[in-house]
Amino acid sequence: MTDIKSLKLDELKNEIISLGEKSFKATQIYSWLHKKGAVSFDEMTDISKNLREKLKNNYDIYTCSIEKKLVSVYDGTVKYLFKLYDGELIESVVMKYKYGYTICVSSQVGCKMGCRFCASGIAGFVRNLAPSEILSQIYVAQRDLNIRISHIVMMGVGEPLDNYENVIRFLSMISDENGLNIGMRNISLSTCGVVSGIEKLMKEKLQLTLSISLHAPNDEIRSRTMPVNDRWGIDELLSACRRYTDTTSRRISFEYAMISGVNDSDECAHELGRRLKGMLCHVNLIPVNSVKERDYRKSSDTRINSFIKVLEKYSVNVTVRRTLGSDINASCGQLRRGENNNKE
Ligand code: SAH
Repeated sequence: MTDIKSLKLDELKNEIISLGEKSFKATQIYSWLHKKGAVSFDEMTDISKNLREKLKNNYDIYTCSIEKKLVSVYDGTVKYLFKLYDGELIESVVMKYKYGYTICVSSQVGCKMGCRFCASGIAGFVRNLAPSEILSQIYVAQRDLNIRISHIVMMGVGEPLDNYENVIRFLSMISDENGLNIGMRNISLSTCGVVSGIEKLMKEKLQLTLSISLHAPNDEIRSRTMPVNDRWGIDELLSACRRYTDTTSRRISFEYAMISGVNDSDECAHELGRRLKGMLCHVNLIPVNSVKERDYRKSSDTRINSFIKVLEKYSVNVTVRRTLGSDINASCGQLRRGENNNKE
C-alpha cells in the first residue's frame, strides 16, 4: 500500500485521477492530511463513503502514536516518545519561545554517525523515516497540545543529510501553502558534517538555516569524538561551509558542545577563532549534557565565559544555548535510549 502522506499535492492529484475521481478531491484530502492532521480516512467527512473505501484499500496513513509524554515543570518543554507503524520509537521535543513554538524533530530511527557524546547512536541505526513520519511528529504534537508550531529544528535523532531525499521532500511539503506553510526561514537543519550532503543542499538554494555540529577546533580533537571527521576533515568541511554561504547568502550556525577538558581550553578558542574569522556565521556554545553511557562532563561557567572572550577577539558571533527541559532528558536520543534500556 502506498504511503499517502508522503505524496505531494500534484502526485496525489494523479493518483486520485487514476482512481477515476476528480482532481479537486485530492486538494480536499491533502488538506485533511496536512492542515487538519487527520489520522484516518473516516475523519474526512466531506469525502464520499465510496471514495473513502477506495482510499482505505489503496493507501496507508502513516502517523505516530504517543507512547510517552513528559512535560518539564521548569519551562513547559514537552518531550514525546512516538511509536511508528512498525513499533519503532522516535523522539520529538516542543519548546516555547517568545516568538512561538519550536519543534525538534527526528529524521531517522537511530543513527549511523557514532558521535561519542551523543545518545542517539548508541544502539545503532535502524531505518530512515519517511517524509510522512517526519511530518507526523509536527501534526500530532500540534493536535495534542492544541497549538500552532511556527519553527522547526531538525536536531532530533538521526542525521538528516544521511536521509537526504526524504528530508528534502519533507521540507518541500512542510513549507507548501497547501499544508502547514512553515517558511524555510523558520527551519533549521543540523548536520554532523556530511560534506557530500552539504554540497547537494547548497544547490537547492533553500532559505533554511544550516547548523553544523562542529564541536572541535581541529582534526585531532574532532576525530576523537566524531568518526565522520575521518571521512571529511575540518578543512574540507569549512570550505564546503564557505561555499554554502557564498551560494545561499545564508549565515551558518556552528554548534559547539563544551566538554570539560576535551575542547574547552583558551587554546581551542583561539584555534576556532582563527578558523572562523571573517565567515558569515554564528557559534552556539552548548554545555554538554552528560549521557549515562558516556564519561563527558560539561564545562564550568567560568571556562565558558573565558572561551567566549577569546572568540570575541576574532569578531566571531557567539552565544550560549539556553537549556530547556533539563528535568525530562530532553536532549538527543536520551528518552528513546532510556525506554529501550527498560525493555532490555
Ligand atoms: N545528526 C545531526 C542532527 C542532530 S542535532 C547533527 O549531528 O547535527 C543534535 C545536536 O545535539 C548535535 O549538534 C549534536 O552534536 C548535539 N548533541 C548530541 N549529544 C549531545 C550531548 N550529550 N550534549 C550536547 N549536545 C549534544
